[in-house]
Order: sequence, then structure tokens, then C-alpha cells
Amino acid sequence: MRKLHKITMGLAGVWMCTAAPLKARQDMSDVEIRTVSVAEGIYMLVGQGGNIGLSVGENGPFVVDDQYAPLTEKILAAIAEVSDGEVRFVLNTHWHFDHTGGNENFGEAGAFIVAHENVRRRMSVDQFMEAFDRAVPAAPPIALPIITFTEGVTFRWNGETIRVVHVENAHTDGDAIVMFENANVVHMGDTFFRDRFPFIDTATGGSIDGMIAASGTALAVMDGETQVIPGHGALSNREDLRRYRDALKTMRDAVAELMGRGRSLEQIVAARPIRAQAEAWGQNEAAEASFVATIHYGLVA
Ligand SMILES: [Zn+2]
Repeated sequence: MRKLHKITMGLAGVWMCTAAPLKARQDMSDVEIRTVSVAEGIYMLVGQGGNIGLSVGENGPFVVDDQYAPLTEKILAAIAEVSDGEVRFVLNTHWHFDHTGGNENFGEAGAFIVAHENVRRRMSVDQFMEAFDRAVPAAPPIALPIITFTEGVTFRWNGETIRVVHVENAHTDGDAIVMFENANVVHMGDTFFRDRFPFIDTATGGSIDGMIAASGTALAVMDGETQVIPGHGALSNREDLRRYRDALKTMRDAVAELMGRGRSLEQIVAARPIRAQAEAWGQNEAAEASFVATIHYGLVA
């Protein structure tokens, strides 16, 4: 069973990562940063890696996640198109390199980097991402969050109330959801991958139940007008997030039901309990098997 887990997690690396690990080592000169206007004073920047959230206004740019280091100049240029002043805060939704890769540059430029305590803890030492078979070296001190929180933190900034809430053991063990209360926008970090199987980093504390709970936490503060920025994928709304949460729950329950009947992981994969969702999202059988293993892993742990 352990072996199958390895195999399926290995496959996971091929498809799950929005091709980030391979491309991270490639030239990013062709990547363009696209600016999406989300609400008054709030933007989503799309390039390569996790979607960036941006609040602009009288106090200066407040950035949620910063993609990869080679993109910092382009990200700054995109920010300068809609805002004056230096970036004052960078909030990391979690430790992954496609969301924190620009930290070193932003830190050197004088921004305060803020994240959950476990983000700093993980970035401070070498990590190994089993799903991608990739070593992630410890970040230099300037790239580490210098303000950390455990439960959450609130910023009064740019006329906004920016509420940052930690959700436990979801995509990792250090996830934050960021709520721009006045603008009615929520950045979900990687607790939300729109219209595809999410990557759940079980090796650093992620779990299917935490993912479902994270969506529930966010849905509780949303209304029909709320704009939702996913970690990966297009700008969304409450119904998109609800559909995704319900899909996760249906798949989780289908795997749990077979586990309850004493089926092994191999048997559960062979039974294809989440096939309908894989087809609905246009994902291949390897991705489907991998996500079954991810759910299984979370339920066993
Ligand atoms: Zn991630």
C-alpha cells in the first residue's frame, strides 16, 4: 500500500502542480502578468504560480503572495500601473515556492512579510516535496516572514479591513485565507483550486477534511456578491466555491465509504469512486488515482 501511495504521489507531481516545479527552473522571460480588476481597490494578478491579490490605496500596495523571484520586476510594474508607492506588506497564504518565491526581492526592497508561524518554520529549513520529488532549500533570512501569527491577524489598511484567518491542516499546516471585508473579496490561497483536483500537501500537514473545512469557513462570511480569488484558476464567486466544496465532500465520502468496508487503497483506486468528478473536470485517470490516494492518506492520518 505504501508503494502504491508513492506511485500515485509520483504521478501527482506530473500533473498537479500547474507544471510549476519544472517551469520554475526555466526561463520566465515570456511570462506576462495580467491584471484583473476585482473590486474597488482590489486586483488579482495572474502570471505563473499562485494568483496574487493586491489592495491599493492611500497607505500603499498590500500584496497577497508573490509567485517566483524572476517575475518580481514584472509584478512591480503591474502594481505600478494601478498604484503609487512602495509595497509595504506581503502576506503569504502558505509556504509553497510558487507563492513565496518573490519574498527575497520584496524583503530586500523593505516590505514586511507576514505569514502563519508554520510558514516561517517551514521556510527556515530545507524541505522536500515528496509529491514533486523536489528539494526546496531553506530561504535566506530576508525572505522569511518577520511578522507571524497563529490564529489570525487584521490589517486596517487602504481604508480596508483585511482579515487574515488561519485554517488548520488544509492545503498545508500554515494556510491563511484573506478577507477584504469592505470590498467583499476573499483570497483563498491554495485551499481553492478552481475546476480541478486540488493539490493537498499531505507531507506538510494538509488533509482533505481540512480543505473541506477551509471552504466552509470562507463560505460562512460570503454572500452572493463576494468575489473569490482561488490559489489557482479564474476569478470565482460563492457558488463556484460551494460547488467545489461539495465536490470535495462527495469524493471524500465515496472513498471513506469503501475504507469503511475494509477495502485497501489498491482496491479503492480500482473501484474508481471519484470517476464522475474526474470526468466532469476533464482530468485523466492518473490524476484521479492520485487524488483517491490523497483523500485516503488524509483519512488514515
Ligand atoms: Zn500550494
